[in-house]
Parts: sequence; C-alpha cells; structure tokens
Amino acid sequence: MTSPFDEAKRQIDSAANKLGISRPLRKRLKEPDLFYSFWVRIKLDSGRRVKFMGFRSQYNNALGPYKGGIRFHPNETAETIKALSAWMTWKCSLTGLPLGGGKGGIICDPSELSEWELERLSKAYVKKIRKIIGPWKDIPAPDVYTNSKTMAWMLEEYEKLMKTSAPGTFTGKPVELGGHEGRTESTGKGVVIITREALKKLKLKPRETSVIIQGFGNVGQFAAKYYEKMGMRVIGYSDSSGAIFKEKGIKFKDVLAHKKRYGTLSTMKGVKHMTNATLLEQKCDILAPCALESAITKKNADKIKAKIIAEGANGPTTLDADKILYKKGIFVIPDILCNAGGVIGSYFEWSMNNTGEHWTLTKYNKNLDAVLTESFNRIYKIYEKEKTIDFRETAYLVAVKRVVDAMRLRGRT
Ligand code: NAD
Repeated sequence: MTSPFDEAKRQIDSAANKLGISRPLRKRLKEPDLFYSFWVRIKLDSGRRVKFMGFRSQYNNALGPYKGGIRFHPNETAETIKALSAWMTWKCSLTGLPLGGGKGGIICDPSELSEWELERLSKAYVKKIRKIIGPWKDIPAPDVYTNSKTMAWMLEEYEKLMKTSAPGTFTGKPVELGGHEGRTESTGKGVVIITREALKKLKLKPRETSVIIQGFGNVGQFAAKYYEKMGMRVIGYSDSSGAIFKEKGIKFKDVLAHKKRYGTLSTMKGVKHMTNATLLEQKCDILAPCALESAITKKNADKIKAKIIAEGANGPTTLDADKILYKKGIFVIPDILCNAGGVIGSYFEWSMNNTGEHWTLTKYNKNLDAVLTESFNRIYKIYEKEKTIDFRETAYLVAVKRVVDAMRLRGRT
C-alpha cells in the first residue's frame, strides 16, 4: 500500500506536469525543507522513564513561516507527518495566506497517559524543537488528540526556555493566553461554509440534504453542529468505536450528550449500529470524512453513494479512489480547501497576537466566511473553465503555482 506521502508526491507530480515545472524544482517541491525526528523522554507518574518518537516537518516557507499542527497518535509515522506538512503548504497557498506548511507529532497513545504525563510530554517535545519554532519561523497548532490545553503547556515551556513572551508561536491557544473564541469551531464551521457554496453550484437545497460524518472530534463535531444549523439532516456519525445511523436523522445534541457522558457512540440507543466502513457506503447527499487519512480507497470508492464528499480530514481520499469518484460524478471538495477554516482561524489568531488587536467573534466569523467563500468561488471558476480536470486537481494547480512563483521570486529555483 502506498503511504500518504507517496500520495502527496503523486499530487505534486500531477500539478507539476500541467504547470511545466522543471525537474530540479519538482524534486525540491517533493521533499520537506527540514525533517527532524527525535526521542522525547519523560518520567511517568510511576517514576519509570520512557521515550517516545517525535517529529517536526518544515515543508516549505516560500510564502511565510511554516504552519501546522501537532498530533499525538499511536499510529503516527514520519511519512504521514511529511504528507501532512505538504498538504499544509498547499492549503495556506490556496487560501492566500502569508504562511508556509509544517506538521509535527509524537507516536504515543494519549488515552494511556495521565494529565501530568501529557503535560510533561508536551513540554519535553517543545524543549526539542524550541530552536526551530517561533512566531516568525514555525507556528504549531492543535491537531489529532491535542487541544488548546496542549498549546498552553507548550507555550509556557517555549517562553520559559527562550526567556521571552511570544504568544504568536502557537495558535489554537486558550482564550486567556491569546487564543480566540472562534478558533475551536473554525475547522468544522469552515467545512460547512465550503459545503454551502458547493450546494449552490450543484443546485441542491440544504433542507433537502442528508449528511454522514465520519469522526466525532473537533472537526466532525462542529461540522455536525453547523450542518444541522443550516437545516441539513445528519443521518450518520462515527468515532473510533464504530458508527451509528438513522435515516430520519440523529440530533446533534443527543449525540454530543451521549459522547460526553459515555465517551463512545457505540452504546447509543434508538439508532442502527454498524462498522465505520459500512457507514461510508450508506446513501446520503454529503459524506464528510472527518477522522484520519485514507478512509476512501480504491477498495470502497465504487460503493460510495454520496453526491458530494466534503473532506474535513486531511488526506481521507487516495488518488486511485479520486479517479473512481470522478468517473461516478461525485463532487469531491479537497481537504486543502474544505478544512482550511482551521488554518485561516489560526492565521487570524497569529495576526492578532502580533498586532495586539482582538476581534469580536462576529468579525472573526465574518472574515472566516469571506476568505473561504472567496477561495471556493475563485477555484470553482477555474474548474468550470478547465472542464477536463477534477476539483482537487484544479485546487492543486492554483496552490502549487503560488508557491512556485514565490520560490522563483526568491531565486530558489
Ligand atoms: P480529534 O482528535 O479531535 O478527533 C478525531 C476523531 O476521529 C475522534 O472522534 C476519533 O474517535 C475519530 N476516529 C479515529 N479513527 C477513526 C476511524 N477509523 N473511524 C472513525 N472515526 C475515527 O481530531 P480532529 O482535530 O477532529 O482532526 C480530524 C481530522 O481533521 C484529521 O485528519 C486532522 O488532521 C484534520 N484537521 C483538523 C483540524 C483542526 O483544527 N483540528 C484542521 C484541519 C484538519
């Protein structure tokens, strides 16, 4: 099976062929500027010393400082982190941000660590990368199984070690530490804003639209909340324990209350239970994969019955699956656009930290909507004109070209 980074490189090759990019430049676009892997050592509450493998990938900073989240996940790999940092590069480029792409992570299972152990792990990780991050170098944020609390610990350690105050080094922080009220919801909300624009193009009415969401974390939860607010019927949800389904729709507040109380969806009553794989194959108008990479592959792409795939997660569809979906006439909204609400929100937070401003929530959400709506419609216009390529390929052409233009101006080619 190909790794997510092989997929990311194939996407670059495809855009580079169409843009006529030279071999040396293409080679450079297919590797991170810097990839750092290291051991993070901590003492467990029991007193036992353990070490975890950590990574930070700085992919490309032609457009601005590296930007990208930090994951704590037992199945994390160097290849996935590299792929995610490449996708961050294209995401920031596509949406016109003055930022490059990065990503980091630790191979660990946070559910097996206490709160104190997680704090020590977060701080030990920062100690390792402190020299390569900073508000004008590389700006991490939360991602899978990390959150605003993780960012607070990391900021504290960074400022202590560097003997400075630099809240713009991390985004997705608690509001008290320079974060913004709008940031937590911005990825999921962004998925819904982008879907709204796609529905207009495909002439579908939100009130007559059903949705299935894979993953019930930060992205999936807020996507569900705002899909429902728009009048759509959310008929399926899932988390790592399994999936729930009900044709008539399942109220978001009931799912959230159950998840909060029991920590799983697998014990919810009054709904049909199925595997995650089966959920993806159910009939619906919108399928929003909001969990992890490679959820839709050539093995199940043919069984997908949705009209639109809204990629809340990073890299949920493989390239082989893309081709099958395109042939079936399914409109795929690529991750680098669909989940860009998160990094746009992070960009707002970082800008505010650097200027000392603080926007109201209304202004934050209005600007988030404006950037996403403009990005979608700009790319859709090119997509309509090109006709022969899918929406993802169109987005890649736009994103890669902006990075390459910046590299040429800097004399990096
Ligand atoms: P999270 O840790 O908050 O939630 C992940 C969810 O996925 C959990 O509900 C987990 O139970 C579920 N899950 C894990 N494996 C699963 C499986 N096999 N099937 C179904 N569900 C499964 O993570 P998140 O922040 O919501 O991130 C989800 C995805 O969105 C990731 O690909 C991440 O890189 C991407 N993303 C996140 C942000 C952000 O701001 N948080 C921004 C852009 C993209």
